[in-house]
Amino acid sequence: MIYLDYQATTPLAPEARDAMLRWLDGPDGTGFGNPHSPHKFGRMAAAAVEAARDKVAALFPPGGRVIFTGSATEALNLAIRGSGKGGSVSVSAIEHAAVLDTAEALGTAHILNVSKEGQCNTAQDVPNDVRLIAVMQVNNEIGTIQPTIDWHRKAKANNALFLIDAVQAYGKIEVTGADMIAVSAHKLHGPKGVGALWVRDGIALEEQITGGGQEAGLRSGTLSPALIAGFGAAAALAKERMEADAAHVEALCGRARELFADWTLNGSEDARWHGNLNLRKDGLDVNRLMSECRNVMFSAGSACASGSGRPSHVLKAIGLSDKQAKSSIRLGFGRYTTLEQLEVAAQIINAAAGDQGV
Ligand code: PLP
Repeated sequence: MIYLDYQATTPLAPEARDAMLRWLDGPDGTGFGNPHSPHKFGRMAAAAVEAARDKVAALFPPGGRVIFTGSATEALNLAIRGSGKGGSVSVSAIEHAAVLDTAEALGTAHILNVSKEGQCNTAQDVPNDVRLIAVMQVNNEIGTIQPTIDWHRKAKANNALFLIDAVQAYGKIEVTGADMIAVSAHKLHGPKGVGALWVRDGIALEEQITGGGQEAGLRSGTLSPALIAGFGAAAALAKERMEADAAHVEALCGRARELFADWTLNGSEDARWHGNLNLRKDGLDVNRLMSECRNVMFSAGSACASGSGRPSHVLKAIGLSDKQAKSSIRLGFGRYTTLEQLEVAAQIINAAAGDQGV
């Protein structure tokens, strides 16, 4: 089996798994304490949480704090719903549903356009009453890198807060400045079920989950030391390996472009994370392709959108027709993908596409 769906999730790093095991102890161990208990086991668990928090924070800009959540979706909800009421929330047309649907649920969403290359540029107006702008750093479907530094500047000029969904960027490229940044452990070889919101010092948020008042009153609920320790280990590893991982991915991407030379690339050639290739062949029946390539795991869009039968909102936003969007595939690769795996996968996918006569 060959896994080429790194934007959906990434394999757990062995180092992250090892860091977690200590905090999954049974009754004979010492690692099962509640990190909010004042006794010894509790304090040990709390120390593990704080050590991991430092490692997670080390990948963010200075001058902010890290709030652990159960996912990036929850972090984005806290940022969008908790940062104010009234006023418009401007979001790019290619945001993940966690941003788009949340902004729309508030009834004040304003959609920012993107170019054919998948770039959301700042030469467009935002509403006068804008209170929050959200633009993701790396797109999960087409890999395009957005001009977040420019958007941060524009948000400031409009007295709005700026939120980055950095789920696909964090641990891979430097995360740029913002007022709030949401991330998820499972996209950087950490465990599923834990995310974080980074919040710039001085920005007040309103809690969205009430209860025991954990995370400085901003996110109630007992933290999971095991998941957080895994997240911390994954973040530390990503920091250490950032250059090596990026070089590996770039080499894979170069070879993939040769292997898929007769496919059309969706999104920008240059402003992109190289671990993502969204490719199309006009006339391709992607469902048939996927069922004929069962030993290669890739996607027809985002993991959340595929299966809905709807054409991708991201591909539609960059100007593709429904037909073109539905004849596109997403290949995602990274740290643990080998050149050989990529070559075998390309052979299988190209042969199956060839059988369709496209
Ligand atoms: N934002 C982006 C860009 C994503 O790719 C994802 C996951 O696919 C999310 C948000 C949601 O992350 P989580 O799975 O942690 O809720």
